[in-house]
Amino acid sequence: MERMSVPVLEISRGAFRANIAAVRARIAPSELMLVMKDDAYGHGIEWAAAEAAATGVTWFGAYDVPTAQRIRSLTDARIFAWAPSNDEEADAAITAGIDLGIGSLEYLHAVIAGAARQNSCVRLHLKIDTGLHRNGFRPEAWDEAVAVARAAEERGIARIVGVWSHLAEASDAEDDAARAVFRWAVQRAEDAGARPEVRHLTASAASWWRPELRESLSRIGAFCYGIRSADGPALAGTAPISRLTAAVDAVDDGRVTLGIGSFHGVPSTLRGARVATPAGLREILEVDGASTAVEAWPGAHIGQRIIVFGTGADGEADATALAERIDTVGEEILTRLTPAVRRVVVD
Ligand SMILES: *Cc1c(COP(=O)(O)O)cnc(C)c1O
Repeated sequence: MERMSVPVLEISRGAFRANIAAVRARIAPSELMLVMKDDAYGHGIEWAAAEAAATGVTWFGAYDVPTAQRIRSLTDARIFAWAPSNDEEADAAITAGIDLGIGSLEYLHAVIAGAARQNSCVRLHLKIDTGLHRNGFRPEAWDEAVAVARAAEERGIARIVGVWSHLAEASDAEDDAARAVFRWAVQRAEDAGARPEVRHLTASAASWWRPELRESLSRIGAFCYGIRSADGPALAGTAPISRLTAAVDAVDDGRVTLGIGSFHGVPSTLRGARVATPAGLREILEVDGASTAVEAWPGAHIGQRIIVFGTGADGEADATALAERIDTVGEEILTRLTPAVRRVVVD
């Protein structure tokens, strides 16, 4: 009986593959870098990286080095880690051929020193701060950063593989201004003799909606997992890849108790949202630690499974629609789900 009440995130490989195909078609000739941070947005890295590699994804975005190492154990594809790491992690990344995103002089010197120690070559993606002020070389510090990296290139211990930045996506005008700074930085690097193989600036929304901002590579997470932008339109050819189900644990007059709650990562603020039962949609009355109370329906019985959120196939909300109710984003709903929710990957 205990097993029955474990909540399950059912994940569709086919839907994931279809989203990747739709995204790649949409952004071509820009190439996809599939972002896998937060355990592939709550879905689990291992199967997702293997599946993506099998469908021909050649770039992965890992956030940090430990995540990059998990991906490296599954694929020889290019893997990009942009969180600043300590020396030990940076050394491991160099050994494993993981590309590093570099946004400060201190970190640049540290990874070059690591490559020199190992008598190896570190693959660098230099980050220009285009206005977000979240890590990255300020334009006035750019020439020096490029010069330091170029000197290491000349010594054969570094390679400037990429130039990159991150957009605020607050307004089109700001993103346009950021792009102008980005273009300037690429030009300055090339003038200094750098020959970056890739340039990457945009994430899901700008890559999809603003083709003029796409560079040779696009770092995309959310849309590949079928997570729309909050308050954003539907995306042709993509769909949520998972649905969260929970089982009925108790039936009382007027209310049904489900075996899922805030301990599983369901926000208690979801009261009033509707879940899909075999008899149609019913309102959430209350979310507690280990359980959720829902309006009753005829024929409700212990062990029956209902859908908390999913693809919309049974009228249920998707993660983004739930997120909109509580003023957050869809990835937040998925990444909050704890390991107490069993992940089951189906075809
Ligand atoms: C999370 C992240 C992305 C992907 O963003 P999505 O909106 O999920 O596509 C891209 N680049 C960086 C630096 C990120 O942190």
